[in-house]
Amino acid sequence: MNKLQDARDQVLAQIREASHKAGRADETVQLLAVSKTHSAGVLREMYQAGQRSFGENYLQEALEKIHSLQDLNDIEWHFIGHVQRNKTKLLAENFDWVHGVDRLIIAERLSAQRPEQRAALNICIQVNIDGQESKDGCTPEQVAELVKMISQLPNLCLRGLMVIPAPGHTDAFEHTRQLFNQVRTFHAHPQVWDTLSMGMSADLEAAVVAGSTMVRIGTALFGTRDYSDKV
Ligand SMILES: *Cc1c(COP(=O)(O)O)cnc(C)c1O
Repeated sequence: MNKLQDARDQVLAQIREASHKAGRADETVQLLAVSKTHSAGVLREMYQAGQRSFGENYLQEALEKIHSLQDLNDIEWHFIGHVQRNKTKLLAENFDWVHGVDRLIIAERLSAQRPEQRAALNICIQVNIDGQESKDGCTPEQVAELVKMISQLPNLCLRGLMVIPAPGHTDAFEHTRQLFNQVRTFHAHPQVWDTLSMGMSADLEAAVVAGSTMVRIGTALFGTRDYSDKV
């Protein structure tokens, strides 16, 4: 028995069930495997179980894994951590997606620093949808202006919104979907506006029922994380 394969099958079954409950086709929800703190060897096994997209929060750790796994075809790297201004170049050079964009300057730098030979970098705007203190993300009121500006940057593809509501605050998913739908009316390229990055191990079902198109799952796939070597 392969533990990672089993865990992935279980999460996919959970997604399927939640999708059907909401009357949605399950292929409209993508599984992003959040692999922070786990080794390249573990990721390789998860890839062999069929997983292609991986989410990382810590740049240095991620770069090491991207390097060791560069032999894997069509693996897709998502940066889901907070984006600091001095990290944009390495993100633009090494990732396929960046989910944590919440300021125009960050998007401008990512666009300017994206290597010419690579496809446009996929972007989600992070919104502090439920007004949590000390939380990253722009306010819901700032989203319209950010979308207007970011959707015109040449080397980015602005795909959607990303949220991390407070635990148990599942109403926030519905608010995010409403905001997401409003944006389509003024996005410069509405045909690429297709991603609602929301839902983690503990609130996957509520997020899918509310319209998530990409759930970011760590613990349910890989088990609990050990941060002891991070401090
Ligand atoms: C760590 C992390 C996740 C995964 O959380 P789990 O509860 O382990 O599924 C999802 N999204 C973000 C932004 C994270 O930092």
